[in-house]
Amino acid sequence: MSELPVVVVGAGPAGLSAAAHLVERGERVLVLEAGDRAGAAVSQWNYVRLFSRWSELVDPAAERLLAAAEWARPDGDTYPTGAEWADLYLAPLAGVLGDRVRFGARVVGVARRGRDRVVDAGREDEPLTVHVRTGEAEERISARAVIDASGTFGSPNPLGGDGLPAVGEKAAAARIGYRVPDLGAERSRYAGRRVVVAGSGHSALTALVVLAELAEQAPGTKVVWLLRRGAVGNVFGGGESDQLPARGALGSRARKAAEAGYVETVTGFRTSAVERGEDGTLSLESFDGHRVEGVDEVVVLTGFRPDLSWLSEVRLDLDPVLQAPSKLAPLIDPNVHSCGTVYPHGENELRHPEPGVYLVGMKSYGRAPTFLSLTGYEQARSVVAAIAGDHEAASRVELVLPETGVCGGAGVFDAPQEQKNSGGCCGAPETVDVAIGLAPGAR
Ligand SMILES: Cc1cc2nc3c(=O)[nH]c(=O)nc-3n(C[C@H](O)[C@H](O)[C@H](O)COP(=O)(O)OP(=O)(O)OC[C@H]3O[C@@H](n4cnc5c(N)ncnc54)[C@H](O)[C@@H]3O)c2cc1C
Repeated sequence: MSELPVVVVGAGPAGLSAAAHLVERGERVLVLEAGDRAGAAVSQWNYVRLFSRWSELVDPAAERLLAAAEWARPDGDTYPTGAEWADLYLAPLAGVLGDRVRFGARVVGVARRGRDRVVDAGREDEPLTVHVRTGEAEERISARAVIDASGTFGSPNPLGGDGLPAVGEKAAAARIGYRVPDLGAERSRYAGRRVVVAGSGHSALTALVVLAELAEQAPGTKVVWLLRRGAVGNVFGGGESDQLPARGALGSRARKAAEAGYVETVTGFRTSAVERGEDGTLSLESFDGHRVEGVDEVVVLTGFRPDLSWLSEVRLDLDPVLQAPSKLAPLIDPNVHSCGTVYPHGENELRHPEPGVYLVGMKSYGRAPTFLSLTGYEQARSVVAAIAGDHEAASRVELVLPETGVCGGAGVFDAPQEQKNSGGCCGAPETVDVAIGLAPGAR
């Protein structure tokens, strides 16, 4: 078993961070990436500028590996686009990892060798097996541990207010997008059109900002912003009190766009159906009969969910609400948390009944929003330490995340309760973190 590799699923920021830590610890690692490049998911939103700076987007172990290869570290105080993050950091990192990273390799199943999830007998003596599809070929790889860092970008939530596709949503697919509009490549699709944006997270705010800018330039462009919640409440975030200034600024710009009249805001709208009119436009109907008519395009940014289909044969302990590891879920539940703070957590919170199987990165958050790559890096460090048997390092978790400046939970689905800023939704104590060198408010 000890000679078998640790298989990492996904060559995104979290997966490559885990691989860098495994290499540093002299462990055998194989990264399987479904896409044709490192950061294949990030590359799909390559035109979006991140609200984290380079200094918050580079994993320490990865940096050490890259430094040995004379990597040109970007200025830590600047903000990359998705393309820059992928091209200037993830691709060089995969380059340094060499043939430990396989592209075009989609993981389609993980199990315990010769045993489904029911069978106890001999389970602990058998390695894990990873089923991989490469083009038409299929193979099975034995592994001593599996780190699933496959993200959630491939599984966007639908428009339907109940979490299922709205009636007619699939039929209207040609007019519905599930990512921030790329006005470089898709300007004509949205210019002069009536565009619905559904969602209230950072991607939805980004879409409001770019479409409002388009509305300024292209007469006739109208934006209708659909929210499930009963009031806008704290959707725009903490503005200047956000400890990630660019994230705060994003919220302020979206607020300006909404207040400048470029955006018509509709709250309490849970989409139940999408109908296509004779003129080709769409009508959206909510569960309580409200309608938004004459829609040309819909941008659905209602969050993501984990693809758990290929993990059906291993024993996971997932929260029934968020589909995140049960010990982590209470720390990130948007029903009660909106400050973006998550207590330091690592292998202990990410461990499952199936030994050696971990979800890290965006996927570890299940359906919860506000994941930051800093969290994925700390998760990877702790999980790898545990796999290598260094339990002291695994349990020494250190992470302080920049707070959003708003607290008190989302109250997303009904009229939000009054937001009080005293003590915060998780009463997070103010601390200074030497390991990452971030101090709340210190920039
Ligand atoms: C528009 C946008 C902006 C964001 N901005 C920020 C920001 O400013 N700061 C921040 O900290 N975070 C930000 N995030 C959140 C988060 O950090 C990123 O999403 C980050 O890419 C998550 O890293 P990951 O490695 O967990 O997942 P991903 O980057 O999604 O990587 C997962 C990889 O796994 C691969 N994969 C998927 N399924 C399989 C399979 N079955 N087999 C093999 N490979 C598979 C995918 O192709 C992908 O390459 C942003 C997210 C989005 C969508």
